[in-house]
Amino acid sequence: MKETFNLQTSEQIVAALQRRGPQAKALQEYAREIKLQSVGNQVYLRGLIEYSNCCSKSCYYCGIRGGNPQVHRYTVSTEETLEAARFAYENGFGSIVLQAGERNDKAYTQQIEKLLLDIDKISKGELGITLSLGEQNRSTLLRWKQAGAKRYLLRIEASDPTLYAKLHPADHSYQKRLECIDLLKDLNYQVGTGVMIGLPFQTYENLAQDLLFFQKRDIDMIGMGPYIEHAQTPLYAYKDQLLSIEERYILSLNMLAVLRILMPDINIASTTAMGSLKKEGREEAIRIAANVIMPNLTPFSYREDYFLYQDKICINESNADSKINIEALVQRAGCKIAYHAHGDSHHFFNRQKR
Ligand code: SAH
Repeated sequence: MKETFNLQTSEQIVAALQRRGPQAKALQEYAREIKLQSVGNQVYLRGLIEYSNCCSKSCYYCGIRGGNPQVHRYTVSTEETLEAARFAYENGFGSIVLQAGERNDKAYTQQIEKLLLDIDKISKGELGITLSLGEQNRSTLLRWKQAGAKRYLLRIEASDPTLYAKLHPADHSYQKRLECIDLLKDLNYQVGTGVMIGLPFQTYENLAQDLLFFQKRDIDMIGMGPYIEHAQTPLYAYKDQLLSIEERYILSLNMLAVLRILMPDINIASTTAMGSLKKEGREEAIRIAANVIMPNLTPFSYREDYFLYQDKICINESNADSKINIEALVQRAGCKIAYHAHGDSHHFFNRQKR
């Protein structure tokens, strides 16, 4: 008889995450069935534009942290950003993501607002736009929403406040990040969050609680992938305590599988970190749980400066190659790219009906 999975308590989730070998496979295959029943075999594209690596924060895990003096800082020009957006539009990508380090000044708010309006214009309002620009206040988020942004990604990074505090300097507030996620919901964004998997100090219990956090907060989209070390960051000092690559990989797949079982109608991204940890990582994520992938459209000359962690992939890939590679990858996963589609989160509409 086929195994079913009861994943209500933290203990049950921990046991699922600890599965290995054929037991892990059974969990992942079950997640795949749930995925096919709920969101089908379609995969949506989000062209990723890594707009700037300038950052006022100094997260201990991140290669582009403000406190890393070795980073060559850049902001993509308006013309180049619009060119990338045009590529997405002309190639039938339904959406793009603008991601950057965090800046909160007025000039920046206006710059992004103007970009959003311009992107809307060149794509005749057809491109879905997601922002991933860190913590912002209500008036900024409202302005960007009114200028055309529909979705926002703000990972909680670690939902346990004690673990969060170990990953960030003292002036980074867990409470503020939570409030920002609530604000996004309040402003009617489709809300995305996520965590890193395999962080130093992180326990299985932490990861189980992360998944329950997503469920409790009624999140629409999740981007989560393995933590990967970077030599120019404070967390690098703990590199010898990390799980092996193989262990981090299996754990990440189990996390994705349990997430899909717990939240069948959300959008789940197959992250670049998954593909950076393991060659077949993005493909496997799509096979078992994910229905979104983000081809990198950052103008070539900036890519190596958006170096969040070591061994990051897609740095030397042209937009055209990226498209071909992603098509092949999705096909190998037994799924199909839905071109010219926004691919909004079903969960967003379902929770609005509730
Ligand atoms: N400034 C934005 C975007 C951050 S970069 C924000 O604060 O939301 C996007 C994501 O990359 C982060 O949320 C983090 O989860 C991930 N990331 C950063 N450093 C990483 C690392 N060393 N390994 C894996 N993922 C990392």
